[in-house]
Amino acid sequence: MQLSSLLERFAEPETLKMAKLGRELRAKGVDVIDLSLGEPDFDTPEHIKQAAIQAINDNWSHYTPVPGFLDLREAVCTKLKRDNNLDYKPEQIVVSTGAKQSLANVLLALVDENEEVVIPTPYWVTYSELVKIARGKVVEIRTSVEKGFKATAEEVEAAITPNTKAFLFSSPCNPSGAVYNKEELAALAQVFKRHPQVTIISDEIYEYINYVGDHESIAQFEDIKDRVVIVNGLSKGFAMTGWRIGYTASSVAIAKGMEKLQGQFTSGTCSIAQKAGVAALTTDLKPTQEMAEEFTRRKKRVLELVNEIPGVICSDPDGAFYIFPDMSSYFGKTDGETFIKDSADLCMYILNTAHVSSVMGAAFGEPNCVRFSFANSLPNIEKGWVRIKDALSKLK
Ligand code: PMP
Repeated sequence: MQLSSLLERFAEPETLKMAKLGRELRAKGVDVIDLSLGEPDFDTPEHIKQAAIQAINDNWSHYTPVPGFLDLREAVCTKLKRDNNLDYKPEQIVVSTGAKQSLANVLLALVDENEEVVIPTPYWVTYSELVKIARGKVVEIRTSVEKGFKATAEEVEAAITPNTKAFLFSSPCNPSGAVYNKEELAALAQVFKRHPQVTIISDEIYEYINYVGDHESIAQFEDIKDRVVIVNGLSKGFAMTGWRIGYTASSVAIAKGMEKLQGQFTSGTCSIAQKAGVAALTTDLKPTQEMAEEFTRRKKRVLELVNEIPGVICSDPDGAFYIFPDMSSYFGKTDGETFIKDSADLCMYILNTAHVSSVMGAAFGEPNCVRFSFANSLPNIEKGWVRIKDALSKLK
């Protein structure tokens, strides 16, 4: 049987592949520490779970409107006003089965064959693959650890052509943790003002995991707001990855396009999860803040541990829950058995020798780096990094 050529155009997520390899090793009895995955290791807050239980008891068991229940879309608008001082109406909101689906919706709604989508490196693995599914072209802007893994306005200007359809970025960034401040976003907005053919896709899913201050959205700049698509969701900020609720805020025209796609792909997402989502977005953020405080403690400890290891250049992430060190000084080395050619080899070596799973930087468009999550308990993080240090010391 011949499967479609579409399947050959894109790769499976490297993050999920590494987690699977880790699980396989664990099934063989090996004590594997998972620093590969991108989800909070916390339980969903109690009041959100109660709202879901109530929704089941109230028989919210039928198909839902394609763009989401009105009360949830209103709750998203309330949240955007409360947290971001942004004005949106419910018809501008499309609720989806996770921010991942929202990204697929927006790219498929916008991008035609060979149109360019500009993405600064490093970027979340799924971005480039979704652009390929949409038959668009990825145009990378290479950043570096020295530049804080952020693209400057000049670099973005230089990357834009008449064929550019969209600019796609996350702030806080997965994997680098980079956070664009208001001045940097204002400079980018000035560039986009000069290029009206460009839609700005702003992935803000790590909004609440920010170590440097208030979250800033590029949608705050009125001149370009109508061309910004905010992508967000409940997975990270509310420890709700399995509930599958994402959303976008955009112009009505883009929202209608996404709704049309979603109407054929998935319909409206789970009714119970949506009702829980209303509770998440309209009640207090204390559990979210406590989670962010715990991530702050872990980040501090991880950086202490990593900075003890020679040849690892690691910046202090401003947001999200990953570190993304440059480990290229280990390329070309060997422990006598395994030769380390690149970041993929290094991740496999760390998995097989230290029994710690991570994700190679190449998957994020940054081949010198490796991503390690700190969404794991402090004891596990400490144990993991002692083992990594030991494994790396054997490479000569
Ligand atoms: N964007 C980024 C940057 C992410 O890291 C993730 C999850 N790893 C998502 C979007 C998707 O989140 P979800 O589909 O769970 O809402």
